[in-house]
Amino acid sequence: MSIQGDAGIRCMVEALADEQETARLRGEHLKGSGLAGDMTVEALPTVYRGTTFRSALEASWAATLDSLGITWEYEPETVTLPSGAKYLPDFRLPDIGVWLEVKGPGVPRVEKAIEFGQVLACDCPSIRGITRCSCRWPGGELVLIGHPPVPFSPWADESYDHWPSRSRLRLARRHGGHLKWTSTRKRRAWLARCPDCQHATWFDLGCCRACRGPLVGAHGVHSGAEGFEFIRISGAAVPGDHDTTSTEEAADA
Ligand SMILES: [Zn+2]
Ligand SMILES: [Zn+2]
Repeated sequence: MSIQGDAGIRCMVEALADEQETARLRGEHLKGSGLAGDMTVEALPTVYRGTTFRSALEASWAATLDSLGITWEYEPETVTLPSGAKYLPDFRLPDIGVWLEVKGPGVPRVEKAIEFGQVLACDCPSIRGITRCSCRWPGGELVLIGHPPVPFSPWADESYDHWPSRSRLRLARRHGGHLKWTSTRKRRAWLARCPDCQHATWFDLGCCRACRGPLVGAHGVHSGAEGFEFIRISGAAVPGDHDTTSTEEAADA
């Protein structure tokens, strides 16, 4: 009894410490981190749908997830990694068992995300490259690194060859670009819309993360490929300001 009681108290103390750590890490994030070379427009706090993001890039990822119909939670909780490091992931996508760490063009510090990805990967046996996985999330929860979008270029795509250059210029300017991500596992992660449940899902095994149905017939795209457009959000809204976020868009100014 007393052992259980002690464990219970220790649990509560740890939970409290984790909450304090989460608050501290969130605070650090919102300060814009003050890293030299990181003070670009992208690193300015940006409000989107009532949430203050550390950067326009993070807010853009949230908007892009919305456009895909993927539920997201921003900085939901701090996790303690096996190395002892505290880590506050940017996004949890609870409906598909995915975490997303958004990294800007600056110094890519992704060690914690990679360690987190290794922790969450399952050990189900693989027979001739086919993993027989019975976990809730195929392969375990997946941790992805979200990068800035790949710019869209109508000049590199022959289906626009017959377009006048002025139209191509306008299209390039208002196009958000394509999604770019990398997996923290060794396999490549793809993005597709499931033909069964219609959810957009990232996957690195041949089944839908939302419904576990086979992704047969789904049009999966790899990182940076056409298929899913990135939504760019510009404009910095300092915390405390009212929502001045605007999408950079259609008006082709
Ligand atoms: Zn498994
Ligand atoms: Zn599905």
